[in-house]
Amino acid sequence: MKQTVLLTGCAGFIGTNFVKTIACREDVKAKYDFVIVDALTYAGRLGNIQPELDVHSHLKFYQEDIRDAHKMHELFKKYNFSGVLNFAAESHVDRSIESPNIFVETNVLGTLNLLKESLSLFEKNKSFKYLQVSTDEVYGTLQMNDPAFTEDTPIAPNSPYSASKASADLMCRAFFETYKLPVVITRCSNNYGPYQVEEKFIPLMIKRAMANEPLPIYGTGMNIRDWIYVDDHNEGVWKAFTNGKAGEVYNLGGDSERQNLDVAKLILKHLGKPESLLSFVQDRKGHDFRYAINFSKSEKELGWAPKVKFEQEGLLRTIEHYKKLWAK
Ligand code: NAD
Repeated sequence: MKQTVLLTGCAGFIGTNFVKTIACREDVKAKYDFVIVDALTYAGRLGNIQPELDVHSHLKFYQEDIRDAHKMHELFKKYNFSGVLNFAAESHVDRSIESPNIFVETNVLGTLNLLKESLSLFEKNKSFKYLQVSTDEVYGTLQMNDPAFTEDTPIAPNSPYSASKASADLMCRAFFETYKLPVVITRCSNNYGPYQVEEKFIPLMIKRAMANEPLPIYGTGMNIRDWIYVDDHNEGVWKAFTNGKAGEVYNLGGDSERQNLDVAKLILKHLGKPESLLSFVQDRKGHDFRYAINFSKSEKELGWAPKVKFEQEGLLRTIEHYKKLWAK
């Protein structure tokens, strides 16, 4: 019999790509129906997944808010889910610095609503699973020569965004430890790829370059991120959901540490634009210097590793996507 799984936040960047590349795959379609819940905030665009909703009867969409405990209760009762993948979140660090409350409401309390409903289904169905999509930002920041984050690195978030994600992770852990709810957490590095909102770093750089406008670079541009192509992330999330061990955390990384300034320069080069468009602006408050991920546990236990090469493949695909989108 087919299982019905709840996907939250799948009109956003990573979730949209999950729907397109994983949820609509023939082998996945044969086993699973998906109910997608998204509040359609500024980051959620139904149009991104409408083509899939139009042709695939195993996908259903509800515009609902995970903060609404009553609505979540009704949905869980109606569909009797066999699992949850929680992508929904407020995800922009800059916005969290301006307005932290909504980050706690969605990322922490919204997650708590999902965990509580999951627990009541788990009591009836012991094969129920819950996957929390988290971030490497919960580990805090690294200096240049520090070893990369492992799953045992202590949690030390620095922004209201990462603090809210870390709080949600701890609540997930507590539901496993206290109630034995089978929770798996993935912590991934910075994603890039199609369907991301324009205010995030890579689409913003592409948009500005295409319009011959200044590319705003925080501070000196020396901050380092480990970039992962969004499809590689989603493959890891799915492997962790289907094969991960309850109570475990799995790091997912791109093996592509790059300075922000170098990424901006590469984008200018690909688009044939001059480096004089680079414009250094006041640094973000509490800006983490470096993130780097050790994903050897995921390689060993999930048989997962990133495949897409940053310069040669992923960045070019990403630039082509936005060029087509914004040339319209
Ligand atoms: P995004 O901001 O592009 O999308 C988030 C989605 O969640 C949107 O569709 C939005 O409408 C929805 N949403 C927000 N609040 C909601 C609520 N209260 N109820 C229901 N839906 C709501 O984010 P993203 O980049 O796609 O990130 C997805 C997940 O992956 C997040 O949990 C994020 O923390 C995590 N993550 C992101 C990255 C990254 O580089 N983007 C890296 C690691 C982990």
